[in-house]
Amino acid sequence: MRVVIDRSLCIGAGMCVLGAPGVFDQDPEEGLVEPVGGDAPDPGNPAVRRAVDTCPSGAVALVP
Ligand code: SF4
Repeated sequence: MRVVIDRSLCIGAGMCVLGAPGVFDQDPEEGLVEPVGGDAPDPGNPAVRRAVDTCPSGAVALVP
């Protein structure tokens, strides 16, 4: 599994940042999701899975 981030789907709700603050951030201009440090989020991290589960738009998702 890997985590994909599709900024075109992001609505800036911020749930991913609340769920995994060290992994996801929101850019200061548009409030859209971006990975902290530019690294691909670890799909085995429970916080990442929580962020995926709570994102209302599917902008962060787990894919095979
Ligand atoms: S990725 Fe999802 S939870 Fe995170 S800011 Fe965008 S819409 Fe909100």
